Amino acid sequence: MRKKIAILGSTGSIGTQALQVIEEHADLYEAYVLTANRQADLLIEQARRFQPAQVVIADESRYAQVRDALADLPIQVYAGAEALEQVVQNDEVDMVLTALVGFAGLRPTVAAIRSHKAIALANKETLVVAGELVTQLAIDNHCPILPVDSEHSAIFQSLMGEDSEIEKIILTASGGPFRSLSYDELRSVTPAQALKHPNWDMGAKITIDSASMMNKGFEVIEAKWLFGVEAKDIQVVVHPQSIIHSAVQFRDGAVKAQLGVPDMRVPIQLAFSYPTRLASQFDRLDWYNMQPLTFEQPDLDRFRCLALAFEALERGGTMPCVVNAANEIVNLAFRQGRCLFLEMPDIIEETMRRTTFVQQPTLDDYFQIDAEARRIASEQL
Ligand code: NDP
Repeated sequence: MRKKIAILGSTGSIGTQALQVIEEHADLYEAYVLTANRQADLLIEQARRFQPAQVVIADESRYAQVRDALADLPIQVYAGAEALEQVVQNDEVDMVLTALVGFAGLRPTVAAIRSHKAIALANKETLVVAGELVTQLAIDNHCPILPVDSEHSAIFQSLMGEDSEIEKIILTASGGPFRSLSYDELRSVTPAQALKHPNWDMGAKITIDSASMMNKGFEVIEAKWLFGVEAKDIQVVVHPQSIIHSAVQFRDGAVKAQLGVPDMRVPIQLAFSYPTRLASQFDRLDWYNMQPLTFEQPDLDRFRCLALAFEALERGGTMPCVVNAANEIVNLAFRQGRCLFLEMPDIIEETMRRTTFVQQPTLDDYFQIDAEARRIASEQL
């Protein structure tokens, strides 16, 4: 029996690479659900090629286009955010790959866990916003959460076969395109420069988050919830070559790391196939011709977003949700030229100060706080 996978965000960077993995292992996996936000043409093309049972276009104004284009095929077509929550609950679905971007991932992920689906988690924002609630829900429903983020997959792989305590997680960071710029130089960087990541080809939002290092901050929060470690035991190490994807230090001082050529298909495939490793044709490390591996301390003064994420994790409650919401606002504003690179942390910090704080939030609280934080962040633009 092939594993039936629902890919939320099949038209994005992770989604399209997941489809390559499925195509490569068509005897093992089936794309059962495909979803997009607005890219109707690509969704239609993917649906014709992979013949899923269901597709969702989140943007309802494009529903008719998708429905008409697929009318000759036995594919159910839905539209809207609520449909995302419904399709993941389908009895046929074995695994849900959350490859959609931002806060929009929270509701469908919760719905999938409540329906006892295995989660291949790329959408880190879900754990940033509501890590405690989501991980507890997964435990209660006996749902594995398999990390797709390369760093967390590396940590997960370093922990395979281990049952001893983690002393420390070493979370590597490329440092992004602005790693060596001075504070003054950061004042005038453009979205086009920020969108040129040195090692990874990713969606626009996460590429900007990598440039500001908010992405690394989010990954610290994600690591806390996935692996049950405190922020003080997560060390961010800038490693510009992105060969060591992350590591775990154990209490005897031994460090286990996972290395490889930067290629998201490796962690995606492992999330699908775990506990088995499947063969692949992906590039191999070339040990004799590799650049020297180097390591640096992150600069929290130039990359204040990372410091703000640590602060949010320390404060707990709804604070990471506020940081995520404000970050989504400033990230888009920066891309659209409505906000400067160095204004992003200022706006996030002010939003953290002004938004209502809830120490023990419910799921509904997260939605209210998210909306409040978005409003407060937007007012500052
Ligand atoms: P992309 O922007 O490339 O793709 C996002 C996908 O989500 C698209 O299919 C998009 O549809 C869909 N989408 C966007 N907004 C919504 C919405 N409001 N409702 C429903 N669907 C939506 O992002 P990435 O693939 O780069 O990233 C996806 C997630 O994976 C993010 O959380 C990111 O942090 C994480 N991640 C990504 C990595 C990477 O290498 N790209 C690495 C590690 C983690 P449409 O195409 O129609 O806009």
